[in-house]
Amino acid sequence: MSKTVYVNNESEMFEFAKHFAKKLKPGITVYLYGDLGAGKTTFVRGILRAMGYQASVKSPTFTIVEPYQLDADGVMIYHFDLYRINDPEELDFIGIRDYVTAEHICLIEWPEKAQGYLPLADITCYIDVDGSKRIIRIDEKSK
Ligand code: ADP
Ligand code: MG
Repeated sequence: MSKTVYVNNESEMFEFAKHFAKKLKPGITVYLYGDLGAGKTTFVRGILRAMGYQASVKSPTFTIVEPYQLDADGVMIYHFDLYRINDPEELDFIGIRDYVTAEHICLIEWPEKAQGYLPLADITCYIDVDGSKRIIRIDEKSK
């Protein structure tokens, strides 16, 4: 299933993120494609806010992955930014395969940097820029 959403500004992006967050269940992997500055991290911020995370959400550009525990039942959200990965084998050092399991939610920016090393996405988002507008295409794997 594929759909396209148009957002006019950052606050509409947050609104859409709130709606999108309802799709996220343990075990779901989301790929986020888009140029630098497209709004991938902003979108993730909106998702985490919608899921009840109040503190600041840093871009994991330097840390590669930031973990978030949202509730007492232990479900983790891992936010990856693979921009700085030059060789997908680097991912073995951070143990990416241990993160992407049936219990956790993974939101992955720059998945193209790790082709063949990541599990397939359940949901893929492509963000295109048009001034302050964003065009978001969502492809959902049918279950
Ligand atoms: P990425 O993670 O894709 O590199 P970021 O989310 O870090 O991008 O940055 C997106 C930038 O664009 C932010 O500075 C944000 O304020 C700005 N911006 C402007 N309009 C929008 C919009 N409609 N949706 C998302 N971000 C927007
Ligand atoms: Mg980013």
